[in-house]
Amino acid sequence: MTGGKLIVFSAPSGSGKTTIVRHLLQQEELNLEFSISATSRIPRGEEIDGTDYYFINLKDFKQHIKNDDFLEWEEVYRDNFYGTLKTEIDRIWAMGKNVIFDIDVVGGLRIKKKYPNKTLAVFVKPPSVDELKIRLKKRKTESEEKINMRIAKASVELATAPQFDHIIENKILEVALEESKDLVLQFIAEGHA
Ligand code: 5GP
Repeated sequence: MTGGKLIVFSAPSGSGKTTIVRHLLQQEELNLEFSISATSRIPRGEEIDGTDYYFINLKDFKQHIKNDDFLEWEEVYRDNFYGTLKTEIDRIWAMGKNVIFDIDVVGGLRIKKKYPNKTLAVFVKPPSVDELKIRLKKRKTESEEKINMRIAKASVELATAPQFDHIIENKILEVALEESKDLVLQFIAEGHA
């Protein structure tokens, strides 16, 4: 398989990784294109189908699993499936671009394992679990129950951080943004794998 590089950003929900990924996408010299995941969860807020996610129903998602259409997939929360379609990577590589992923830790590590030399796996660490709770509440997009579900998962996810190539602590956003950009720039500049 040829094509550009794979840049994975993984983190507990609310760590700010989506903000970082969006920032990186605006940096033209990085030549990045966002990997749009498929999910069985319903759209939140202003999310757009085909831009933020491919929103598909649970039945169709399971059919894609059966067809082996996914590079990786995960039941991130109960009945909320998320996955990267193989066609998504082909689409981006055909554009001559590098792929950037905003995915959960299990999926992120799976991609790293599949393409060890092509992948830069970055873990975004929130300053603390308490801070995470505050951020999720501020977001006001999920119910109390859903927030608690995400917090419970965060502790498990934090334990996987050492398996990533780099850990970025998102304490001061501007610093995290700059650090992320430098990391990606350096990785992309390295010789082809
Ligand atoms: P959210 O519901 O907040 O958009 O996403 C929940 C979690 O699922 C986040 O950690 C997000 O990064 C992760 N996620 C999104 N897309 C994928 C994917 O394609 N595969 C995996 N494994 N996780 C994903």
